[in-house]
Amino acid sequence: MAEAINESTSQIRNFYSFTLEGLEAYLKQYGKEKFRAQQIFKWVYEQRVTDFDLMLNLSKDLRAELKNLITFELPPILKHLISVDGTQKFLFDVRDGNSIEAVVIPSDDRLTLCVSSEIGCNMACHFCFTGKQKLKRRLEISEIVGQFMQVQDVIGQKGLKLSNIVFMGMGEPLDNPEAVFGAIDVIHSPWGVNLSRKKITVSTSGLIPEMYRVSEAKVRLAVSLNGYNDDVRSQIMPINKKYPLRDLLNECKRYYRATGDKITMEYVLLKGITDQISHAHELVKLLRDVPCKINLIPFNEHPGSGFERPSDETVQAFHTECMGLGAQVLLRRTMGRDIFAACGQLTTKVDRPESMDISNSKIGGVNVRSFSSGQPRV
Ligand code: SAH
Ligand code: SF4
Repeated sequence: MAEAINESTSQIRNFYSFTLEGLEAYLKQYGKEKFRAQQIFKWVYEQRVTDFDLMLNLSKDLRAELKNLITFELPPILKHLISVDGTQKFLFDVRDGNSIEAVVIPSDDRLTLCVSSEIGCNMACHFCFTGKQKLKRRLEISEIVGQFMQVQDVIGQKGLKLSNIVFMGMGEPLDNPEAVFGAIDVIHSPWGVNLSRKKITVSTSGLIPEMYRVSEAKVRLAVSLNGYNDDVRSQIMPINKKYPLRDLLNECKRYYRATGDKITMEYVLLKGITDQISHAHELVKLLRDVPCKINLIPFNEHPGSGFERPSDETVQAFHTECMGLGAQVLLRRTMGRDIFAACGQLTTKVDRPESMDISNSKIGGVNVRSFSSGQPRV
């Protein structure tokens, strides 16, 4: 017989942590039919209804029971900052004094959400602000899906819709694969957010043993390459000592064979370290037989990093050289610097320089413009 349900026996769970399968299994424990899970998913993700009393295809008794089993909790928004260039940054409360960030990046035909997968990051890349903070905790499915839903709900009030999601915020997504791929399941599935797999990109610093999951999930792969050979990459990215370039690029080729999708290679331009013309030659040579496009990202400065951003001329020259060598290469326009939302500037700390707090300003007054050359384009 099904377990009797009352508040004292039930283990109340957050809906946003469930995949369809997960909810079916959870409801089964309480003797509920499988198809109920699908009905609830439709209400929540299609209709944005999170009040059981409004889910009219469920009986009154069932609705009452469900209230004791399931809550709907999204991470509260602590701050919402909007850049002069239209980039928007959201700061979320993820309990115990921790916060994470997600960034909305507008471009001509897209509205891309860049989400965080962890609080801090253990990969310790020397040029990255997030990498300066040791991993505090891996995010849960509900906290990843929660970033998407909270942002969509806010921008939805302006009639806008997120078109893409990239795992390029705080943390190394492949260091938290269960939650990241659980969240991807919710985001791409027709019973969930229903975003095409091709609009979802996972970026990794090169955790080779977990990279197979990206092709299995049939989503896009981006790799933080950042070095044109093992020496320089190991100097700036400690992970390269464990998983060197040869193995990493072989894994990239395997991804391409499995999916037919080109990989996006992210390459941060650090003054004097990775930005010279000779480096452009080595980079293009290194990637000669890897089906990929290169995204050049001029280094975004942050206090005490010890690195410098190259001049615009150097950046331009590097870009031109790569193109001349036949590479498919894109120069990422830096966006959101005034609100500290650019690549590698995200942190778990609320207080820092250059933030422009407009959390009290009206969303309704915000003009999200489009740009002819936005970022990221993956
Ligand atoms: N951990 C994952 C995803 C988050 S980092 C990864 O490393 O791929 C997202 C991108 O930001 C990476 O390509 C990284 O190389 C880049 N990045 C980090 N710090 C940066 C900085 N200060 N300036 C410019 N890009 C940076
Ligand atoms: Fe972590 Fe990515 Fe930053 Fe490296 S670049 S420290 S992997 S977030």
